[in-house]
Parts: sequence; C-alpha cells; structure tokens
Amino acid sequence: MPTYVYAHKDQNSCQLGSEFEVVQPIKDNALKKCPSCGKAIERLIFPPMSIKSPKSDSDLKGLGFTKLVKKDNGVYENVTASGSESKLFKADDPSSMPHLHKKIGD
Ligand SMILES: [Zn+2]
Repeated sequence: MPTYVYAHKDQNSCQLGSEFEVVQPIKDNALKKCPSCGKAIERLIFPPMSIKSPKSDSDLKGLGFTKLVKKDNGVYENVTASGSESKLFKADDPSSMPHLHKKIGD
C-alpha cells in the first residue's frame, strides 16, 4: 500500500502535527478530514518523505514523524508509536491517540 502525506489546511495544535503520513489502499479516496482532530486536510501530490531517501519507521519515529497505517474503516495502526502509546488508533476513540506531546518532551 502506498504512503500518502497529508497536511492540515489550517495550522492547528493537532496531535499528529501539521503534516503526517497515512498508508492506505491506492483505491481509497483521499481523506478529507484528519483522523485525529477531524479538521480539513489535503493530500500532498508529491510526498516530501518519498523524494528524500526512504526512511524506516524507526527513522520516522526519531524525527518525531507520525505514521498511520490504515487497518479498517476509521482504524489506523500507529507504526511510530513508542512507550505507552496505543498502537491501534481509532478515529472515534480519543484514548488511542498518539501522545505526541510526550514524545517531544523525551
Ligand atoms: Zn489533525
């Protein structure tokens, strides 16, 4: 499955950051709303991470990047989760959100 980079249309304090990656089936439509905060997002046509050298999930984690892999409708696996973070991230379950603030504080 391809990795897409999404960007929030407005700067905000979303836990996923202003840009984040989602791995989703190529036949899926572009997401319109952030799975975390529900605000408007847009898919970037040229994902910046794919232009640079390929990065592993642990590299992304080190950069503070959040990568979600779509598992099911509204269910994403946070492959860059660390520590007590939930690996499975459900759009309708706030307790499974990535703990980005904690990561920055490390
Ligand atoms: Zn968001």
